[in-house]
Formats: sequence, structure tokens, C-alpha cells
Amino acid sequence: MESLRFLESLTKGTILFNEPMAKHTSYGIGGPADAYIVPKDSEELANILKYSNDNRFPVYFIGSGSNLLVSDQGINGIVISPRNSLKKLEFTNNIIIAESGVMLGKLVKESTKRNLSGLESLIGVPGTLGGALVMNAGAFGSEISKYLKYVKVMNMKGQIIKYNINQIKFSYRFSTLKKDEFILSASFQLLSETLKVIEEKKQFASMGRKTNQPLKYRSAGSVFKNPENYAAGYLIDQVGLKGKKIGDAQISDHHANFFINHGNAMAKDITSLIKLARKEVFKKFSIQLELEVKTIGIKKKELLSDD
Ligand SMILES: Cc1cc2nc3c(=O)[nH]c(=O)nc-3n(C[C@H](O)[C@H](O)[C@H](O)COP(=O)(O)OP(=O)(O)OC[C@H]3O[C@@H](n4cnc5c(N)ncnc54)[C@H](O)[C@@H]3O)c2cc1C
Repeated sequence: MESLRFLESLTKGTILFNEPMAKHTSYGIGGPADAYIVPKDSEELANILKYSNDNRFPVYFIGSGSNLLVSDQGINGIVISPRNSLKKLEFTNNIIIAESGVMLGKLVKESTKRNLSGLESLIGVPGTLGGALVMNAGAFGSEISKYLKYVKVMNMKGQIIKYNINQIKFSYRFSTLKKDEFILSASFQLLSETLKVIEEKKQFASMGRKTNQPLKYRSAGSVFKNPENYAAGYLIDQVGLKGKKIGDAQISDHHANFFINHGNAMAKDITSLIKLARKEVFKKFSIQLELEVKTIGIKKKELLSDD
């Protein structure tokens, strides 16, 4: 613990010890992390990463926790986020350079304002740019990787590496960006378009989201990826689990691939629903649902059905 406290001397940003992760996830779920850090700049980040690596502290990177389920026992290690800190955003004609802590909504808004098209379908996807890149966030026919040029990351030795788009593989809610490399920034090249066309696409995406998603409740968006030829929500609905409640967690009766926290849900309630949905969908359709949501501190056996 003494050596963990030394981290305090490495940052003028935020450092919180024994910090409940429920405060940093859209589910509002998760026990305490040994330390939660938002470094002020990349120099501080480099020192924190090197020190953590030398002392073999487990390190986890998060954005705004909008795709994250953290265990009730919390995180034995350090959580680092760029949120509210690394948020520089620069436009040069149709080229964007953005730091990983920029919120996706801001990126869409600022691009649209400049008549730049390419990201507008992502309006309403919560989270930071860093999280969106790892997840290859997408909506209404577009994905964050579509107009990407490069990503800059920092490894555990504090070295900066630049990956051009052809050095990263992206597919549906998947990227080959590495777990032990912190995303610092990214660059995009967008297309010039009339405001009318951009606004139409934005409206379409916003309306679709409002109609289809239970946005009044705490969730992490879609729990499962859609398997080929099916929507995961449809399959869960077909096995009669829409609206199913365990503790204070519920499979939304509006969109069955959204699991919601009514206030006091625990990670174990969500994992019980995950297990149940997987079990029933497999029994009826012989389809194994794959998680879209990322987990920290949750064992595989808590997520897979027993039979
Ligand atoms: C209401 C709602 C609607 C949603 N709708 C959509 C949707 O339409 N489409 C969609 O794709 N998603 C959707 N999501 C899911 C979520 O918003 C996205 O996955 C988002 O991109 C996650 O960003 P984040 O910053 O919150 O990442 P987090 O949830 O914090 O992290 C996600 C992953 O990225 C990694 N990560 C985050 N930041 C960094 C970094 N700087 N360096 C290295 N690794 C990092 C984490 O380790 C984790 O593996 C929705 C979620 C909610 C709550």
C-alpha cells in the first residue's frame, strides 16, 4: 500500500484510493479499485505506467465505463482513465486529431458544425474516443474505424507508438488494439458534406435510438453481440426472458439486449441474467451468445451457463 501511495507524487490530476467503480460505470455497479487515476497529461501517464509496471501493479484502462461490468469485489489494481483530462481536439480542414478522453458526442458535434461527415451516425453513443476505438463502436450503418487514419498509444514502458489504420484490424465491436497499451489519441479524415445531409443522418440515428433503447435506465448498452443473421435481443425475447428480473437488475422489457439497473443491482445480478439468457438461447436455438460488454474482475464461470 505504501508503494501504491507513491503514485500520488506522480500526478497533479485525479487520484482516488479505494474508489468505488460504481461511480465510474454507466451501470452504476462495481466494487472499489485500489486506485483510480486520471493523469493530467501524457508525461504523467508515462511515469505512472512505468512505476506500476516496475512494481507489478495490475493496471486496467477505462474510458467512461459505458460498456463495462465490474465485479462487486472490485478491482485489485489500478484503473486509469483519460476522462475529463486528455481532451484536446484539433481540426485542420477535414482532418481531426483528438485525444482519447474526448467524448464521442463532442466529436460528433464539433465535426457536424464544420460540415464534416462520417461520424454523425454515432450521435448518442455514450463514452470516450478511447473506448469507442477499442470497441469499434458503431451505430446505424457506420463504425468509428471507418474514417480513422491512425491511433497513438502508450505502452507500459511509457513509450508512444503510432499505428496506422492498416496496422489495426477492426470488425463488428472488435479491434486488435492491445489491452496493455493506453490509447492516447487518434486522427480521422472526414468528408465535406452539406449540413442538410449530415443533419438528416443525425436525426435518423437519434430517432432510432430514442425509439429502440430504454434510455431512462442505467445500462451498458447491448450486453451481447448480435450473432450472424439474428439480433441478440430477438433471441432473448423468443425464449421468454424479456422483462426477467433478478435482484434489482432486469432484462429490459423494451429492448431485451439491454440489461438495466433499477438502482441497487449488483454485478452478480447482471451475471445471473447473462448466464440465464445464454442458457435459454442455446437450448432453443443452439446459438452461443458472445458478450459485447467488457468485464473486469469477473470469472468466466460466472458468465457461462452451468450446462
Ligand atoms: C445507453 C447506451 C447506448 C449504447 N449504444 C451503443 C451503440 O449504439 N453502439 C456501440 O457500439 N456501443 C454502444 N454502447 C456501448 C458503449 O457506449 C460503447 O462501447 C463506448 O464506445 C464505450 O466507451 P467508454 O469510453 O465508455 O469505454 P469503457 O466502457 O470505459 O471501455 C470499453 C473498453 O475500452 C477499453 N478502453 C477504454 N478507454 C481506453 C483507453 N484510453 N486506452 C485503452 N483502452 C481503453 C476498456 O479497457 C474496455 O475494454 C452504448 C452504451 C449505453 C450505456
